[in-house]
Amino acid sequence: MAKLGRELTAKGIDVINLSFGEPDFFTPEHVKEAAKKAIDENYSYYTPVSGYPELRKAIVEKLKNENGLTYTFDQIVVSTGAKQSLANAVMCLVNPGEEVIVPTPYWVSYSEMIKLAEGETVFINATVENDFKITADQLEAAITPKTKLFMFSSPCNPTGSVYSHEELASLAAVFEKHPNIYIISDEIYEHINFVDKHASIAAFDAIKDRVIIINGFSKAYAMTGWRVGYMASNSEIAAACDKLQGQITSGTSSISQRAALGAYQSSLDSVIAMKNEFRKRRDLVYGLLKEVPGIKVNLPDGAFYFFPEVKEYFGKSVNGQVINNAEELCLYLLNEAHVSTVTGEAFGNENCIRISYAAAEEQLVKAVSRIKEALAKLS
Ligand code: PLP
Repeated sequence: MAKLGRELTAKGIDVINLSFGEPDFFTPEHVKEAAKKAIDENYSYYTPVSGYPELRKAIVEKLKNENGLTYTFDQIVVSTGAKQSLANAVMCLVNPGEEVIVPTPYWVSYSEMIKLAEGETVFINATVENDFKITADQLEAAITPKTKLFMFSSPCNPTGSVYSHEELASLAAVFEKHPNIYIISDEIYEHINFVDKHASIAAFDAIKDRVIIINGFSKAYAMTGWRVGYMASNSEIAAACDKLQGQITSGTSSISQRAALGAYQSSLDSVIAMKNEFRKRRDLVYGLLKEVPGIKVNLPDGAFYFFPEVKEYFGKSVNGQVINNAEELCLYLLNEAHVSTVTGEAFGNENCIRISYAAAEEQLVKAVSRIKEALAKLS
């Protein structure tokens, strides 16, 4: 979609891109200053595989102060983005044939990472009716003797759903009964949460030792290109990930790590300002999408995405062109409305599309109006 969108833009067409998975804000000034200083101070050498000690200590402090979670220095591994932390953990934990439970919709790379580890993905379907969240009963029913891992994100990409502390408690109670299952808790959207304080499944002592927290700087600090993420886990898993990473990429960029340290050593003001902006846009787009006939949309509590169900339009047509599925609908919206979105199939749900609101308000208003107009042509 991004490629097709670029092609249309190159032809001079005004394409509004709502397919992005990154904040449209700039990296905060103090973070950029920390990076400039690092260059001047010659932070130009290979870094320790698990990250600079100062950064790992700052992450330990952050987890304690912001999340009330106790980790030691050796339990933190800094990586080239949260994506590498996720891949490290999956590679280290999953043996061929073992099952990994993933609630759908899920972030695209989860299933591919599991495939690379030769694991079997077991999906649990969540739908718009239950805010795209699974229940403890669904989880229990998906567990088999082969289950090794459970993998999810909250706040979630692509749905923006946020599990509350109570909802996580009910899932944690299931894991308590199954001591051989590990849990990857992807918390990369932690700070883009419009409900209350971020809740982590690692807060439950009975299972904390089996939880691998994944987090990073891409979303909260608008640093997607800087490539800094991390994981926090028990010491054994952290050591295994350090070993794997040491043979693949080594430590991530020295300058980016110093910038990340600058981020964690300052107040959350810029993070909160960005979150407030996203909340305004969420409310705006929600109001507009609710007025579009034939789509079913819920109010997401976090991240910067809507994941509306669009299946009512399947089978409809315009000028002989039939829309059979979400992918064809996305293509139609790109060609007809000049709005780029992402098909839900990429996230394990073929009835929905993902709309990112990481764009300026006037663009968002224009985009939803164009979508509405294009959909109205289908009958
Ligand atoms: N996890 C989720 C749910 C994401 O949406 C993304 C990026 O889009 C990542 C992880 C990867 O983040 P990073 O840029 O830190 O690799």
